[in-house]
Amino acid sequence: MKIDDMLSKKRTLSFEVFPPKKSTEEKDELLKTIKRLKELKPDFISVTYGAGGTNAGIAAEISGCIKDIGIEPLAHITGGPSSPEDIDKLTQQLKSLGVENILALRGDRPIDHVGDYCKYFPHATDLMEYIGDKFCMGAACYPEGHIECNTLKDDIVNLKKKQELGAKFLITQIFYDNSYYYRLVHEAGKMGVTVPIIPGIMPLISAKNIARIKSMCGSTIPLDFRNMIETYSDHPNVMREIGLNYAVYQIIDLIAKGAPGIHLYIMNKADTAIEICERLKNVFNELF
Ligand code: FAD
Repeated sequence: MKIDDMLSKKRTLSFEVFPPKKSTEEKDELLKTIKRLKELKPDFISVTYGAGGTNAGIAAEISGCIKDIGIEPLAHITGGPSSPEDIDKLTQQLKSLGVENILALRGDRPIDHVGDYCKYFPHATDLMEYIGDKFCMGAACYPEGHIECNTLKDDIVNLKKKQELGAKFLITQIFYDNSYYYRLVHEAGKMGVTVPIIPGIMPLISAKNIARIKSMCGSTIPLDFRNMIETYSDHPNVMREIGLNYAVYQIIDLIAKGAPGIHLYIMNKADTAIEICERLKNVFNELF
């Protein structure tokens, strides 16, 4: 089923997984995780795509497995490392696996990437234009503005292009301060972006991930939350409770203020998703 059709009827609950590098054991492990996630009745599961493009085949294969397990997959595609021939091959593979939804992205050049980057598809919009209407397409957006954009307004101008090129929904970068999400929804709405903007939440359950989150996505961590994390960084069990409860707080606030769904970045950990869903079972049962 197409994600825009789902969103027209209800709030969506979704998870993001990343495909294994190559080993069969890792793939089996991921499939076990996906089967556990099915118990939580997600509307879709998204599968990331390596920025270098090297895992395209396996990422598509995992999307096919998700479909076979009985969950709707959302296959990410990054244009940066790809040629038009790569995209043709991948989109044909996805079609043959019955995948109906893709998330069109540019990606960032990995440090070890050899060869041209962004030669054919400098931006997600170029990839979207090339792929056309073969799939139900979504795209990425950034509550705090994309790092390369001078102003949020400039970023939203580009977001509007994504909508014009067929994006039927947007999924946000990780954020820990909901006010950035509300600002994006408000400003994008004023500039004519009307497609649903699904907030992406990543429970921060380990203190060592703070630096990683900062460098990977530049997300601001509110002072109160940061203080809690730093105070209990040597107590992993306490840290886990703090991170899960903070995510729960973010989700309830987002739902109360009208978010069209929740996308959870779970780093392939079914336990994280299960614990969040358990804490929020009435919210997901009654409001989704
Ligand atoms: P773009 O939309 O191209 O935006 C990049 C910058 O260019 C922005 O500043 C934007 O304002 C500007 N811009 C956009 N369009 C134009 C235009 N037409 N003309 C001029 N400027 C423009 N990375 C991966 O490698 N694999 C993944 O699977 C993956 N999944 C992600 C999922 C989500 C939900 C998000 C939020 C990010 C994901 N990323 C992934 C990271 C993403 O690839 C990087 O954040 C990258 O820097 C930008 O990708 P984009 O598609 O937003 O690029």
